[in-house]
Amino acid sequence: MSSLGKTLVTELDAIRAAQLYRERRVVESFSDADSAVHVVVDGESRINFCGNDYLGLSRHPDVRSAFIAAAGEFGVGSGASHLVTGHSREHHALEEELADFVRRPRALLFSTGYMANLAAIAALARRGDLVAEDRLNHASLLDAAFVSGATLKRYTHGSAADLDRLLVGEGKQRAIVATDGVFSMDGDVAPLAELAALCGARDAWLIVDDAHGLGVTGPTGRGSLEEAQLGLDDVPVLVGTLGKAFGTFGAFIAGADELIEFLIQKARSYIYTTALPPAVAAATRAALRLADREGWRRERLATLIARFRDAARSLKLETTDSRTPIQAIIFGEPAATLAASAELASQGLWVAAIRPPTVPAGTSRLRITLSAAHSDADVDQLLAALEALRR
Ligand SMILES: *Cc1c(COP(=O)(O)O)cnc(C)c1O
Repeated sequence: MSSLGKTLVTELDAIRAAQLYRERRVVESFSDADSAVHVVVDGESRINFCGNDYLGLSRHPDVRSAFIAAAGEFGVGSGASHLVTGHSREHHALEEELADFVRRPRALLFSTGYMANLAAIAALARRGDLVAEDRLNHASLLDAAFVSGATLKRYTHGSAADLDRLLVGEGKQRAIVATDGVFSMDGDVAPLAELAALCGARDAWLIVDDAHGLGVTGPTGRGSLEEAQLGLDDVPVLVGTLGKAFGTFGAFIAGADELIEFLIQKARSYIYTTALPPAVAAATRAALRLADREGWRRERLATLIARFRDAARSLKLETTDSRTPIQAIIFGEPAATLAASAELASQGLWVAAIRPPTVPAGTSRLRITLSAAHSDADVDQLLAALEALRR
């Protein structure tokens, strides 16, 4: 074996020994016509309780037919980056509709949320600036700070007081604060009003990545900022993703005209990559309309969240403090979490075991996600299995 091969085999063995080895499951087919919750995975039927398709839109007939029609017209690939020849009518219309949806002057599409976060931080922070981040932020926000060359400091999860400690001692040229709106592995919500007030007082720029809030939280599904009643002056940079509640793929940044123009000039993860397929943009336009018009999807989700939480409380399951579709049960060590996930799988339930480095050491967990497409019976089956597990 080559020197590289030997080194990698040793490292892989260490990952395996720590119970942190990751393997993919192959989704083979779906059992229902339009929903993605009942799947056949590695030859077995399962109810999916770990995807992010919160509104049940990923296989919706309108979303699929918009995709097919646009692929018929535009083809599959966009052919180039947005700044060369890749920016189509569908992309442009989607940007306008996304801006309307989040009630901001403009929105700019990105190929993934990872790249949108990279753009937001790396284009705004320079070497010597301060980037302050919540300890439990998504990995892409952390990586973005590394790429920017700014000084990264992390504050205690959800603590505006700890953030203040970081901001007050700094004589940096620019201070940028980045937080998830809804935390992806715990489902709790950032104290956005407090963070925004602090950023206002300390002249720091606040970036909110609302990947798990958009479409789901807030009175009309506009996400964490709507829920916290914050506008453009409070949070100048909003990042949203399209692969979660909207059921498609891609991401966007929404803000003032000058922010979007600046990103178009400077954001390397915008400039140096191929534009999304136009058909994905067309499908997202259909999904956005459904998310907007069919408020029953959010209401259905809220009903299921309440059903799950009420039962979890009476069963004394130790879930994270979450009002969102993300409900985690902390087991602590990877081996126990894997065993719990395997036991649920044997009962036809797909709940992934989330382990370090995705979550901090000692907090391995089952991350359960609910979707408007789940039935009451699906959720009851999960609860019965969790009760048996607890015993
Ligand atoms: C999923 C996620 C991302 C990444 O979005 P992709 O489009 O999947 O690259 C970014 N931030 C958060 C909080 C996420 O949960």
